Amino acid sequence: MASGKEPISLLLTGAWVLTMDPDQEVFCPGAVAVTGPEIVAVGPPEELTARYAPARTLHYPEGLILPGLINAHTHAAMSLFRGLADDLPLEEWLNSHIFPAERLLTGDFVYWGTKLAVAEMLLSGTTTFCDMYLWADRVAQAAAETGIRAVVGEVLYDFPSPNYGPPAAGLAFSEALCQTWQYHPRVNVAIQPHAVYTCSPDLLQACGDLAEKYGTRLIMHLSETPHEVADCQARYGATPVAHLSNLGLLTGRLVADHAVALTDADQELLAASGAGVAHCPESNMKLASGIAPVSELLARGVPVGLGTDGCASNNNLDLLQEVDTAAKLQKVGKLDPTLLPARAALALATRGSARVLGLAGEVGVLKPGLKADLVVIDLNQPHLTPLYDPFSHLVYAATGADVQTVLVHGQVLVQDRQLKSFDLNETLARARELARQLKS
Ligand SMILES: [Zn+2]
Repeated sequence: MASGKEPISLLLTGAWVLTMDPDQEVFCPGAVAVTGPEIVAVGPPEELTARYAPARTLHYPEGLILPGLINAHTHAAMSLFRGLADDLPLEEWLNSHIFPAERLLTGDFVYWGTKLAVAEMLLSGTTTFCDMYLWADRVAQAAAETGIRAVVGEVLYDFPSPNYGPPAAGLAFSEALCQTWQYHPRVNVAIQPHAVYTCSPDLLQACGDLAEKYGTRLIMHLSETPHEVADCQARYGATPVAHLSNLGLLTGRLVADHAVALTDADQELLAASGAGVAHCPESNMKLASGIAPVSELLARGVPVGLGTDGCASNNNLDLLQEVDTAAKLQKVGKLDPTLLPARAALALATRGSARVLGLAGEVGVLKPGLKADLVVIDLNQPHLTPLYDPFSHLVYAATGADVQTVLVHGQVLVQDRQLKSFDLNETLARARELARQLKS
């Protein structure tokens, strides 16, 4: 080029760029240069404008740019069960309300429920979600079509599924899913047995073998409640964590969703294994499951990410609210306001979740070579003014409603609070219609 500048597809500038690198590199003001799906540079705007000739520029003089948020555990299509049954214990909630409603599910319900959830997630700054549900093929389809990044897995258990039928067919379904999506740039597949109380040791071991074969994560609910731990002790003479260890499944491949009711020995086993934890504080509070020992797990070096769990037990998918809750729950749980400070809390929803899901080489941090998954927060608002510390505002003052623009894989999926990649009104209309059918 005559200018001598390197052509790139997009340059974003903002009042702040938080890279979320472990060294906490912050630029004020800052810019991010993007070519195709990747970040090519992060730095001061004058440096990047001197180096690059962007085809498109997005200037946010009152904007804060950070990595896209990563929801490490959800059941996206449960967005259609939001508010269906509240204020009940987990076992009663699952057995009397959720499992019966799920027997009426269809692939279409899952597809539109997932699209509804993706709309909510993108508009509130989530760029990757890890989903456990039925008809995971339709979840994958919804993720592929909407432009979001996802880790999907078919939920597996010992009883027949309305999707794949008899339990044995679940493993074949999961294997086919692995093969179908193996080379997709944004959709990853994991093996996802439901829990130790719904899956036999044989099924769990078969799941572990399949995860090993395809080099994917093995993801399950684990030690979610004291009731689950007591039940597992009675049945197998071991805590859920020790039970998995006995089965040879406690490895760096494992993601333990919830991990609330943990003994010291459980925590040591988790730390020694390299397994990760998906912390879901609002679901744990709403179902009164307890407080996960996140500060202790982090101190022991256990990778911890942040999830919302399904919409029926939260009841939203707003990760900025979840970060706020996570920080405050650690403090009140131990009556110690110094626990899980803002920087560490925000790390859970970015590089923490990325590491737990095995995506650390792709997303979670803004740096050259990683995927251009990022979010712009609109700072020009009363509740975000003045600003002394951007980490403080993101964790304790901002919500998903402050998200202005969202990129995934270098594509602008939300711009100035408008969803660009699919039809929001069609999705809302379908969701209302499906809810009418469910109710009748
Ligand atoms: Zn869950």
